Amino acid sequence: MKFNFSDEILNIDSKVKGMVAGAFAAAEEIKGTNQERMLRAFVENRVSTSHLTGTTGYGYDDIGRDTLDRVFADVVGAEAAIFRHSFASGTHAISVALFGLLRPGDTLLYATGRPYDTLHKVIGKKGDGTGSLLDFGILYEEIPMLAQGVDIEAIKKRCAKGGVKVVALQRSCGYADRVSLTIEQLGEIITQIKSINKDIIVFVDNCYGEFVQEREPTMVGADLMAGSLIKNAGGGIASTGGYIAGREDLVEQAAYRLTVPGIGSEIGSTGSALRELFLGLYFAPGVVCEAVKTAIYAGCMFSSIGMVTRPEYNAKRADILTSIDTEDAHKLSALCIAIQSASPVDSYVQPVSAPMPGYDDEVIMAAGAFTAGSSIELSCDGPMREPYTAFLQGGLNFAASRLAILNAVHKIQKV
Ligand SMILES: *Cc1c(COP(=O)(O)O)cnc(C)c1O
Repeated sequence: MKFNFSDEILNIDSKVKGMVAGAFAAAEEIKGTNQERMLRAFVENRVSTSHLTGTTGYGYDDIGRDTLDRVFADVVGAEAAIFRHSFASGTHAISVALFGLLRPGDTLLYATGRPYDTLHKVIGKKGDGTGSLLDFGILYEEIPMLAQGVDIEAIKKRCAKGGVKVVALQRSCGYADRVSLTIEQLGEIITQIKSINKDIIVFVDNCYGEFVQEREPTMVGADLMAGSLIKNAGGGIASTGGYIAGREDLVEQAAYRLTVPGIGSEIGSTGSALRELFLGLYFAPGVVCEAVKTAIYAGCMFSSIGMVTRPEYNAKRADILTSIDTEDAHKLSALCIAIQSASPVDSYVQPVSAPMPGYDDEVIMAAGAFTAGSSIELSCDGPMREPYTAFLQGGLNFAASRLAILNAVHKIQKV
């Protein structure tokens, strides 16, 4: 197999490389800041060889696990954290956090509109019998987003009315047609909510946001946040897991849901997972930088061939996603097929759309990844609905991502 791109495509590539140079330099700066904070946390917590081997059974006194939690908490400026392979996914971590915080009769307010698809069933419906939040008698409200960001006046008005226990903010757009929130915007929203009532707990779904900017939600006032380790925070090396970080008392409440009330984060053996979690976390700022470069390049490339992409390639980024409106089911498929065919694993597999647990529409996914479903590795997916938007994310290595994107540009122009 040989990548054989036409002169026309290579000309666009050179033009795009020039256009993205400034944004790439900015991404490298952010990587430098985040990697320095990471190294400092490893040194200050005296990470040692003995922390890299795990425990069995109950996992009492697992110093590797406890040190890893501490390192992550320090890196994100949180009082405490649980950074574990025993979270099955980001959705699991978010669900554990929300069930940890909320009690029957409490109100959860999603202030960034309808949350990510897989959370719809976590919120659930009253009497659905699944043990969802609503099934447990937790009340739920949401405030739709406006074109430029959250509807801050509506959020303030609702918070002032009383009764809201937790406000949830989703940093990344996910699969929705909305903007992602920068850390500066998140900080401003949190300040406004706290000015109405400082006791309201602000929770942030931080999926896809970690290490994209120089600060994390817990550094700008978020009380608790959660994310996935097969996205940014696992650095492409963690093979499963999730995290919750924030205020110590709230992390403990969440840990009571992860394991059991009264024991929380004191148990949970780590088997052979610790080395890859430490290593992945250590790599995360660099890997996220590669993914951000991939997103910038893809945005500039696809907009250069006339497609609508978001965010603007040179805008301040809040996550690792670039969305591309293909406007056509066949183009969405062609794009995913082309990305898959230039992946290091399963390159010969042809993706087709199918129903996915937790998603409302059929989804097509290209994911030729070392870790199944990993989206810090180059992946491209989209729900089969108008305007057939492809969400491209990840990329462990920009040099390889560029080839996959050039391949996609080449193939999509033939549809
Ligand atoms: C991916 C994602 C989730 C869910 O994470 P999974 O690991 O796929 O369960 C939640 N929220 C957002 C914004 C996401 O991008």
